[in-house]
Amino acid sequence: MSRRLDGTGLTAATGVGPAWWLDGSDPADLPTRPDPETIDPSTERDRFGAAREAVRAALERERERTAREVGGEEAAVFDAHVEFLTDPAIESAVDGSIEAGHPAPHAVRDAFAGHIETFEAMEGRMAERADDLRDVRDRLLRELSDADATAGPPDGAVVLATRLTPSEVTRLDPDRVAGVATVLGGGTAHAAILLRSMGTPAVVGVGEDLRSVDDGVVVGIDAATGTVHVDPDPEVRDRLESSDGPPVVHDRVTTRGDTAVTVAANVGSAAEARAAMERGADGVGLFRTEFLFLDREAPPDEDEQYEAYRDALAAFTRTEASDAGDPHDPYARVIVRTLDVGGDKDVPYLDLDPIENGFLGVRGIRFSLGPGRDLFEAQLRACCRAAAAGPLAVMFPLVSTPGELDEAVAILEDVLDGLRAEGVECARPELGVMVETPAAALSAAALARRVSFLSLGTNDLSGYVMAAQRDVDAVSSLADPLQPAVLRAIDRTVRGAREEGAWVGVCGEMAGDPDLARLLIGLGVEELSMAAPSVPAVKAAVAAIDDDDARRVAEAALDAETPEQVRSALSIQ
Ligand code: PEP
Ligand code: MG
Repeated sequence: MSRRLDGTGLTAATGVGPAWWLDGSDPADLPTRPDPETIDPSTERDRFGAAREAVRAALERERERTAREVGGEEAAVFDAHVEFLTDPAIESAVDGSIEAGHPAPHAVRDAFAGHIETFEAMEGRMAERADDLRDVRDRLLRELSDADATAGPPDGAVVLATRLTPSEVTRLDPDRVAGVATVLGGGTAHAAILLRSMGTPAVVGVGEDLRSVDDGVVVGIDAATGTVHVDPDPEVRDRLESSDGPPVVHDRVTTRGDTAVTVAANVGSAAEARAAMERGADGVGLFRTEFLFLDREAPPDEDEQYEAYRDALAAFTRTEASDAGDPHDPYARVIVRTLDVGGDKDVPYLDLDPIENGFLGVRGIRFSLGPGRDLFEAQLRACCRAAAAGPLAVMFPLVSTPGELDEAVAILEDVLDGLRAEGVECARPELGVMVETPAAALSAAALARRVSFLSLGTNDLSGYVMAAQRDVDAVSSLADPLQPAVLRAIDRTVRGAREEGAWVGVCGEMAGDPDLARLLIGLGVEELSMAAPSVPAVKAAVAAIDDDDARRVAEAALDAETPEQVRSALSIQ
């Protein structure tokens, strides 16, 4: 009998196929420990050393392949794995255990256990690091057991798993897997980021009910709605099978009432910008530059950043239309956000303190104007140099006062003066501000007076308006962008920007939900920026919008008292 299970959908894609549970054999299930007298520590140490080198080589190969085919942000996951693999604390625990008479596999399992437990006990994204550790441990154990690589899923299967590790995701061939569903896991885990950018129809966090689905049962994945259809009815099956997803459209789209809407992509590297262009993105609405700073020992220097920003611009070749337009034609605009660290974004070598640099501390622009001032100047130099090559814009994260913005712009002017005095080719970038705090939304007009656009970071804005930390599961229904208070903050931002002739975009996750395009356009938003695979579906949704209907929906949503009422105004669940 057909039934539906709900979870978190990662892309606007669908797929149908027979269920196939990822091999249940747990590499951490080891045979009984042999008598320590029979163990030769030096042989075991050599075995461990050889396994570690083999795993390191495999991680590096996968890193390169991912950087080439998916993007730098996703590839950085493998650098994090190499760090775990070579962590001196783990290494010395393995060594101590071998010395005490344990064989290498048992020593590895024991050495990782404590670290995995520590991460599991944490909240939010830190808890997801336990998956990464387990992944590295299992690679080592597989290497030590000489087991054959587990056979992959049959062609066209829907892969089911308790949870997926990033390396399990990269071993899936997106052209051969019909879909993915997991019992556990959230939308911000590394594995989810990878699945989203591969465009695989995937629903994560379905819950324990998923375990009742046996191998071979037909499963339909509707990642747009976050639904897993078990043994679907023929009509549902036809719909899921025949939906290839909307076609890639390279032209700009307008609503039915001719309102132009820029549909841009969020990226973390130049490679991702290239992939986004191929999916029809009109430009980059958010370059999360912190990804250039992650998983390394020291920050990227000015030249490295310059090349990344210039290459991202180069990904968006000029069209005839953009040649005819102004130099900041939105077809090609790349918006670089200056370094946004603190809160849940840690960069180990910057020694950030969880409280001092936490969600209400020195993060975003506060860090750049304070302890991160040198990094900020180097980044602005790189941006001004890249701006000579094309329509690059710079925006500042987590601004709360016009004074902070004035300070940031004054530093940018000094940087430009310095570059010009040195005779270095440069240009003044277009400027924008992220609206992520209630203060910024309430002061939108004052901010807009100083820049040409405001970009709503609705992930953080929802968290701060509702006083609900975005990575704490227990308050996730509060940190919901469809809370009417958040929508009123968006409305207030658009009105303030309009008074000053600035345009408004949304680059938080809600911009990638095709069901919400009508609401955001109705509220007056002009640019939507999202993970690249969502671009075609959002372009299709924009093209179907009736402007009067969008305005009516926006008004109803602003009058609502609950997110449920907003959803019912939008006729979504
Ligand atoms: C946001 O807060 O909505 C945003 C886009 O920034 P990030 O998710 O990188 O904090
Ligand atoms: Mg943010």
